Amino acid sequence: MDQQLLETLRVIALPTKTNFRGINLREVALFKGQYGWGEFSPFVEYGDEEASHWLASAIEAATTPRPQLFRTSVAVNGTIPALNDTTQLKKIVDSFPGVKTFKVKVGIDLAADLARVNTIRELQPHAKIRIDVNGLWSVEQAEEFLSSVGEIEYVEQPCATIEELRELKSRTSVKIVGDEILRKAIDPFDIDLTGAVDYLMLKVQPLGGIKRAHALAEHHKLPIVVSSALESAVGINYGLTLAASFQELNFDCGLGTGSLLTHDVAHLPIVDGMIQITEFEPALDGLDVSAERFEWWKNRIMRTAELLK
Ligand SMILES: [Mg+2]
Repeated sequence: MDQQLLETLRVIALPTKTNFRGINLREVALFKGQYGWGEFSPFVEYGDEEASHWLASAIEAATTPRPQLFRTSVAVNGTIPALNDTTQLKKIVDSFPGVKTFKVKVGIDLAADLARVNTIRELQPHAKIRIDVNGLWSVEQAEEFLSSVGEIEYVEQPCATIEELRELKSRTSVKIVGDEILRKAIDPFDIDLTGAVDYLMLKVQPLGGIKRAHALAEHHKLPIVVSSALESAVGINYGLTLAASFQELNFDCGLGTGSLLTHDVAHLPIVDGMIQITEFEPALDGLDVSAERFEWWKNRIMRTAELLK
């Protein structure tokens, strides 16, 4: 990776409103190139091999021109973490003004999961509900849950393997989205998703950038849903760019996760369920991590960059 890019490196920590994936502070690395800022923010437990795709995306964002965009704003979904406190859930729902779709994290506890979905339904009776299981269910558990949850838009990664997804698909009429099956594959071009999933989840960082995400969509010939990890506004903005670069976009995008942060490097407000695509200079002051954490991230980037050669 270019030394010049590395010299612009900032590593910042963003506090989250609730515990999300076990974290309360989200560290992200940002660097700036000729075409703007790129975000590198694989979760800290990810190995270098997996992180290398995230780095490819960040480098692409900083060093290549943006693609042609087909819209100026993107409809987003609300994201509901796996918690069951009604007051907290209401607060989270209210932080997504005007959104028409909620994605509910489930998978750990069938009864608590069902209760969470029902709470969101009561709070937002007209919203569509989609659920994300992160591959945690067996085929039997998935079948049981899907037969009792009522109408949902789709289920994201209900089971871990292609074989399980295929078996589940033969047992349910609920649409299935593949996420981890794609972004955790050793070679996502070398998997056969026939009869296993209905739609493809595209996340720009884990899939190695906008060009590679488009190539994957074309390769698998499935309708797509665009989403992100919990990222800063810089990463979200690149996700918005990916979403806007598709002529056809049939699903609300998982790009509203900025609402889960207490503080962000820019405010990308959700207005009537949409986020406008804007250009901005991220406000990084006061957010830097310790010198020790900075070194950790810098080393991680340099190690990971070796894998891109
Ligand atoms: Mg997912």
